[in-house]
Amino acid sequence: MKHRGFTFEKLKIASFDFTCCEGCQLQLANRESTLIDFLELLDIKNFRELSSEQFDDYDIALIEGSISRQDEVERLQAIRRQAKTLVAFGSCACFGGVNSLKNKFSLKELVAEVYPGMKVETMPVKKISDVVKVDLSIPGCPVNKEEVERIMVNLATGSLVTLPKHPVCFECKAQLNTCLFELGEICLGPITRGGCNAVCTTGKTPCLGCRGPSEEINMPAFVELVKARELSLDDLQEKIAFYNAFEGFSNHEA
Ligand code: SF4
Ligand code: SF4
Ligand code: SF4
Repeated sequence: MKHRGFTFEKLKIASFDFTCCEGCQLQLANRESTLIDFLELLDIKNFRELSSEQFDDYDIALIEGSISRQDEVERLQAIRRQAKTLVAFGSCACFGGVNSLKNKFSLKELVAEVYPGMKVETMPVKKISDVVKVDLSIPGCPVNKEEVERIMVNLATGSLVTLPKHPVCFECKAQLNTCLFELGEICLGPITRGGCNAVCTTGKTPCLGCRGPSEEINMPAFVELVKARELSLDDLQEKIAFYNAFEGFSNHEA
C-alpha cells in the first residue's frame, strides 16, 4: 500500500496472550494521537481484544505473557511453526515477569493455599525463549507504545530494529529529577535499559527494572553503591528479583 508517498507491505500480525494481565496488548490500542497512522501499518489477523475475526496467515506473532501450563507450551510451539517473526512482547514474555514470583514457592503448597480443594494445572513460570526461538524482544511492563510504533515502522520498512542501550538514569537525569538515592531509596535505574522515558522515577517511584539489564551492566559497582549508602541488600535483592529480568546477576552479586 502507499502512505504519504511511501510504499510498503502491511505487516500481517497476530497477537496472542498467555499467562499475563494483557496490559501490553492494550498498549497497541493506546495513544489515540497516532493510532490511525499506526493501524495503517498493520493487517491484523488475530487480536482478541480488537476483533472477533481470526485468520491463521500471519507473519508476525506478538507473544504476550509467560508460560505456566503444559497446554501453553503446545500452543506456543504451534504459533512458532506459523510465524516468520516471533516477538516476546512485554516483560512477562521476555523475562517471566511478575509471574515468576510464583517460582519462589512450592507449587503444591501455593495451589492448596490459593485454590483450596481444587485441581489446578500449573508449572514453574518460563519466559518465552525457554520454550521456543524468539526473534525479537520488546521489554516493558507494560511495553512503551511509542517504542512499539517505532519498531513496527522498522519492520515494515525492513530497517534494523534496535533498543536503547543507555540506562534509565540517562532519561531520568534529562528530566532534571532529583535522584531517589538522595532520598534514601534503592532505584534500579543505573542497571536498567532505558526507553520508558523514566516514567516511574519521574513519578517519584523507584525503577524496578521492568525493561531488563542495560548494555554493559556493572552489577558489582551497583551493589557497592547500595552498600556505600548503607541501604538494605535484602531490599535490593527483592527489587532485582521482581521481574526476573536480571537472571544470572541476582543471586551471587546482591
Ligand atoms: S508485562 Fe506487565 S503489562 Fe505486560 S502483560 Fe505482563 S504484567 Fe501485564
Ligand atoms: S532516580 Fe533512579 S533513574 Fe533517576 S538518576 Fe537516580 S538512580 Fe537513576
Ligand atoms: S522506570 Fe524502570 S520500572 Fe519504570 S517503566 Fe522504566 S524500566 Fe520499567
